[in-house]
Amino acid sequence: MSEPRTPVFAANWKMCHGPAETAAFMERFRERHAPRDDATVVVFPPAISLPAFAEARAGRPDLRFGVQDVHAEVEGAYTGAISAAMVPATGATWGLAGHSERRREFGDTDAMVARKLRRLLDAGLRPVLCVGETLEEREAGRLEAVLETQIRAALSALHAEGRARLVYAYEPVWAIGTGRTASPADAAEAHGIVRARLSGFEGCDPPRSVILYGGSVKPANIGQLLAAPGVDGVLVGGASLDPDSWAAICGAGA
Ligand code: PEP
Repeated sequence: MSEPRTPVFAANWKMCHGPAETAAFMERFRERHAPRDDATVVVFPPAISLPAFAEARAGRPDLRFGVQDVHAEVEGAYTGAISAAMVPATGATWGLAGHSERRREFGDTDAMVARKLRRLLDAGLRPVLCVGETLEEREAGRLEAVLETQIRAALSALHAEGRARLVYAYEPVWAIGTGRTASPADAAEAHGIVRARLSGFEGCDPPRSVILYGGSVKPANIGQLLAAPGVDGVLVGGASLDPDSWAAICGAGA
């Protein structure tokens, strides 16, 4: 059984909101969302908007931010890529790895995701490992096997101290950007599987591990998803792009 903990509200802006839109978003969002110490709010803007986010959140350290992806290497001839080592200078403190869009569109494999996690940890960032099954895999009864493979590949490549700092996001691929949300019971089941898969890895503390749910979360369903057993927060794409909608989500349970 997981222990109750302060929820994490994480926003994945994907390839939306450049620097100007980031500034405008933040002006509105700051008005709509007062700091709360019973929750963690973190936004993942596009990398080019990290400095704009840093500037726009001045005086609001409660509004954390992170990078959506980093390269598996620290430095080198990788045109267009971003090194985890470059990120802390922006003020960002979190990083995603293994998002299903990275896996699908950019060919990120489990082995690459594991290396990216190592880079994020080496840079002192808080990594969020995204895992989740496709509809085909779910319908073939492979939910548990897919989660097990993704988690094992990542954790096997990390040392115990690194594992202790990971946050997890269960994101069923069939629910991302589709408007189709996992039921609270589906989310609870999958979070239970993720938590169970962590046991046996030195450094992991399954009851205390933070596992977010992601997939078409909106103001209308945030309450029931957060109330599902084992759901410690959410990772939100589409509904985080509008400051009013994101403020409504970040106000859940207050
Ligand atoms: C995501 O991108 O991680 C996500 C969950 O997107 P959406 O909320 O739009 O389904």
